[in-house]
Amino acid sequence: LVLPLGQALNAYTQLQTGLGALQRIEEVLDLPSETAGDRPAPAAPDRDGEPAVVLEHVSFGYPNGTPVLHDVSFTVPAGSRVALVGPSGAGKSTVLALIERFYETTSGAVRVGGADIRQLPRDALRARLGYVEQEAPVLAGTLRDNLLLTAPGADDRRLLDALEQVNLGALATRTPDGLDVQVGEGGVLLSGGERQRLAIARTLLADTPILLLDEPTSNLDARNEAALREAIAAASLRRTLIVVAHRLSTVVDSDQIVVLEAGRVVAVGPHEQLLETSPLYRELATHQLLVA
Ligand code: ADP
Ligand code: MG
Repeated sequence: LVLPLGQALNAYTQLQTGLGALQRIEEVLDLPSETAGDRPAPAAPDRDGEPAVVLEHVSFGYPNGTPVLHDVSFTVPAGSRVALVGPSGAGKSTVLALIERFYETTSGAVRVGGADIRQLPRDALRARLGYVEQEAPVLAGTLRDNLLLTAPGADDRRLLDALEQVNLGALATRTPDGLDVQVGEGGVLLSGGERQRLAIARTLLADTPILLLDEPTSNLDARNEAALREAIAAASLRRTLIVVAHRLSTVVDSDQIVVLEAGRVVAVGPHEQLLETSPLYRELATHQLLVA
């Protein structure tokens, strides 16, 4: 891993600036409001050697629905890349929502950096987690507006770097407007693949140590597919990545794969091992995961 020192330092100093922006982006994007049970607590730094994220016997049902997750446990070591796979409706996106604490678990605990997230101030949790939704929201306005949401005050060099890392550099160079090019209402002037990569660029600028990514299910053309793969690789550099994966390429590149079926963990392991040991994984890998 070779990063120019200046770039690393810059990313670090910008982290502080990013925090306030994350607050604002929540308001702008109308993310779910705070759940009950927040209590003030000192910002707990990670204890040395703690895994980035742990789910301990987590069960959960949506407020007016049937149970969705049953006794889900898995551990995500710091710096690793974990893929969640499983049939539609298995509970993959729900797992990400619980790590984000959009909802409270019915039983069991989620730990981030060793701390039970119910004990962490909301700001401290947000400062650690980046989240890229399946249909990533893009705001009407310019490319620059969208990027500055997570990095107010960032100079053009940083914005362009982030775009380069997700293979969107051309967006800022193909018109004379540069970074001030309009993306349209909801980003209609961008393709679906470009919108999600723009969302990934925003999380790169926010520079949170953990990234939760819900990969799009839609088929992308080969170029967008390759670009997404590279963007995910860029995002997982220096970060812990938990990705709901719909693409075999994303899964194969992961350190561990957690296979969910009807809200339960039915297998955990690397790709080669699961091909041998998990019939469901074999089925998913050969038929249902997009191969493009
Ligand atoms: P996956 O991402 O694996 O396709 P989800 O986590 O989205 O699965 O959904 C798991 C189950 O929870 C499904 O039965 C789905 O219908 C239900 N569900 C998802 N979101 C909500 C919600 N906001 N309210 C009620 N039920 C939901
Ligand atoms: Mg989902």
